[in-house]
Amino acid sequence: MQNPTPSPRPNPPNQNPNGLKPTLVNIGWLVVWFLVMTFTLTRMPPRSEQVPYSEFLTQVESGQVAAVRVSERRIEYRLKPADDAVLEGETADPSVSVTTPLPADPDLPRLLRSHAVEITAVPVSNWVGGLWSLLFPLLMLWFLWGAFSNRIQEGPAALSVGKSKARIYSQTEHRVTFDDVAGVDEAKAELQEIVGFLKESKRYTRLGAKIPKGVLLVGPPGTGKTLLARAIAGEAGVPFFSMSASEFIEMFVGVGASRVRNLFEQAKKQAPCIVFIDELDALGKSRTPNTPFAGNDEREQTLNQLLAEMDGFEPNAGVILLAATNRPEVLDPALLRAGRFDRRVVVDRPDRQGREAILNVHAKSVHLADDVALSKLAARTPGFAGADLANLVNEAALLAARKNRAAVMMADFNEAIERMLTGLEKKSRILNDLEKRTVAYHEAGHAIIGSLMPGAGKVEKISIVPRGVGALGYTLQLPEDDRFLMMEDEIRGRLMILLGGRAAEELTFDRVSTGASDDIQKATDLAERCITLYGMSKTLGPVAVERTQAQFLEGLTQPRRPISPHLSETIDREIKDLIDQAYQMALEILLRNQTVLEHIAQNLLDAESLEGETLKTLLSNIRPPTELQSWLNPGHQRLRVSHV
Ligand code: ADP
Ligand code: MG
Ligand code: ZN
Repeated sequence: MQNPTPSPRPNPPNQNPNGLKPTLVNIGWLVVWFLVMTFTLTRMPPRSEQVPYSEFLTQVESGQVAAVRVSERRIEYRLKPADDAVLEGETADPSVSVTTPLPADPDLPRLLRSHAVEITAVPVSNWVGGLWSLLFPLLMLWFLWGAFSNRIQEGPAALSVGKSKARIYSQTEHRVTFDDVAGVDEAKAELQEIVGFLKESKRYTRLGAKIPKGVLLVGPPGTGKTLLARAIAGEAGVPFFSMSASEFIEMFVGVGASRVRNLFEQAKKQAPCIVFIDELDALGKSRTPNTPFAGNDEREQTLNQLLAEMDGFEPNAGVILLAATNRPEVLDPALLRAGRFDRRVVVDRPDRQGREAILNVHAKSVHLADDVALSKLAARTPGFAGADLANLVNEAALLAARKNRAAVMMADFNEAIERMLTGLEKKSRILNDLEKRTVAYHEAGHAIIGSLMPGAGKVEKISIVPRGVGALGYTLQLPEDDRFLMMEDEIRGRLMILLGGRAAEELTFDRVSTGASDDIQKATDLAERCITLYGMSKTLGPVAVERTQAQFLEGLTQPRRPISPHLSETIDREIKDLIDQAYQMALEILLRNQTVLEHIAQNLLDAESLEGETLKTLLSNIRPPTELQSWLNPGHQRLRVSHV
């Protein structure tokens, strides 16, 4: 992938944490050394000649010395011009000689006076000179420093250190439009809405609505986040500032912060506009007190400045901050707070249809042979992100070119897929066939049970496109409204939904996988709360074993009341019973509806995600077993009215 700019900066700032290139450093030191040397040399007296003290005395005694200059450490003296030298015209510059004084020669002054030598003395320490010799190298360094930092900054427009290097897109250069982005329709729709906010801000603000300040694009690498941002730049019709987060940070502390300030100043002047920060995680990593990386002060300052700027502009100032990251989990929570990046747009790996659409976009630029069926290619490339698909088309074209074909054939694509798969399997999770089938049946199990349970809401979507960290598939079920109380049947239903995935695996393959671990964890926690907190066990009755406040003051109190070993055993047994029963019930339901299960799983394997009408029709054929209701509502009649 390429950066969205053609900026010919010679010196990408994020490569070397110390900024300067080695050669530059070397030249710099050479210059410093050279200047210091010349400086010292010029301060030396000219053409002085070291003479032994004894010779000096002899010269004084023989009357050759004209003048002496006595300082702490040496005596400089000048000889009287020799007569023949005058004739030759060389008198102008009698050479100066130097000798080291004997520390205790009390006779010297008298001797000099007796020969009528002119005596001057140098003050003990020449502080002006001393200061100057200290200051001069410092000044030099300062000067060089300045020169270098300008060097670093020199972009095409030679900006200064604190100026942001944001690029403003012009609408004329190679434009990316929303049509170039495919397979991420939901993200596209959301971003289009945001562009609408900017274009017609009056319509929203008139009614008192606040336009969102920050929008965060989240998704795995190569899914088209940067591309989407460029598309916005092309479509929005407002100025678009783009910058990668790592560009804020240079070797000088404070530069990043001032760049952020500068960027926002520019943006506010040009409002309405969009500011895009790519790879936000480079800047917005969590500010933990003891990170193992030393010297991230600069990053922290920059981040703080960004936060301050985000708080600083009015929601309706017409500046929308857009950012992208593929590692939302490392971001500082402060960034995600309300009023900052409070809108999150997920840009996910495409499903089969999406992949076909993306292939269509990229295939436009190559010659395809008639035998190429993009839909087949889409089916063969599960787990490929947009960038992988772009790469695939290119690889296939390269292969075809090597074979001197007139057009790219299906065989080229197949070869390219094989080549890429080996590399990709490690990089992004691409499941093998058995894994994919397991995930499909697992999710179908969740969906079937989920559609039967009270209060669980409609099953909106099932998908086996891996997303985020750890999840290989997901079933999206949205509750109809906010709930503050959960009824017992709903809790039991929830338990069954959680266990439905595992039950489907067992029923279909007669063997289970590790994929259900998260479900099992949640189910166990829920069952434990039923027994120990909600008093939903017949054997125990409404007895709280757990202390609720322990959740807030963790570590201060024992999570459980002091209980007898016997009671503890009972609790454990009750939890296990509840889970066992829920699991059995889930198995029962799936067994009864095995054809539906097969159907849904096959459809999932085919399309990778199911939603809307298709899903609704598939789920409409489910028949619940008769004993379901009585299991969900076990009843708790403890009150026995005795009739006389
Ligand atoms: P990200 O920023 O999410 O890591 P990029 O936007 O840099 O990914 O995508 C890299 C390249 O992959 C794009 O320039 C484009 O050619 C291709 N690409 C990625 N996603 C898509 C998509 N949804 N539709 C079309 N092309 C895509
Ligand atoms: Mg990117
Ligand atoms: Zn599951």
